[in-house]
Amino acid sequence: MTQKDHQPSSTAVRGIPEVDAVVVGAGMSGLYMLHKLRGLGLTVQVFEKGDGVGGTWFWNRYPGARVDVKSMDYSFSFDPDLEQEWEWTEKYPPQDELLRYINHVADRFDLRRDIRFETTVTEAVFDEDVDRWHVRTDRGDQLSTQ
Ligand SMILES: Cc1cc2nc3c(=O)[nH]c(=O)nc-3n(C[C@H](O)[C@H](O)[C@H](O)COP(=O)(O)OP(=O)(O)OC[C@H]3O[C@@H](n4cnc5c(N)ncnc54)[C@H](O)[C@@H]3O)c2cc1C
Repeated sequence: MTQKDHQPSSTAVRGIPEVDAVVVGAGMSGLYMLHKLRGLGLTVQVFEKGDGVGGTWFWNRYPGARVDVKSMDYSFSFDPDLEQEWEWTEKYPPQDELLRYINHVADRFDLRRDIRFETTVTEAVFDEDVDRWHVRTDRGDQLSTQ
């Protein structure tokens, strides 16, 4: 959910906080989206129902869980330093290694400060009259894009 033609700010209209973008989920997609949108100078709020990052690799911890794509391909490629500094131990890493990697990325790019954990988005409605998303969570948060 993004809003075009915006300037970064964290304003509030009628007491409802506003951000440029709301991201649902702190799996690999949500983390990349947060990093990317921040880089564009946008304000972002991520909501994640779990109490940690990682999505699929946070929730699925059954014995033998591992990725079927080579780690070189199943990893972030947006930062050359990150690619150099992380050493995969296996070509097809197991779940716990993937989760360590994703946590490393969250720390390395200070992503957690814009993630609200243990919070489920329950409603996201686009209001065409004002060209904004209105988002609600199970914790009573209300947020609009600006
Ligand atoms: C068991 C399993 C094995 C897999 N193995 C492979 C594999 O080997 N290779 C491969 O390429 N892909 C695999 N996948 C696919 C995998 O899901 C993707 O590769 C990738 O991890 C998806 O990342 P994502 O961030 O888009 O979504 P997810 O990892 O699913 O993250 C979504 C996040 O959004 C959160 N969320 C959802 N709804 C809400 C809400 N309303 N409010 C707040 N938070 C919410 C969830 O808690 C979750 O953390 C597998 C998937 C599963 C389930």
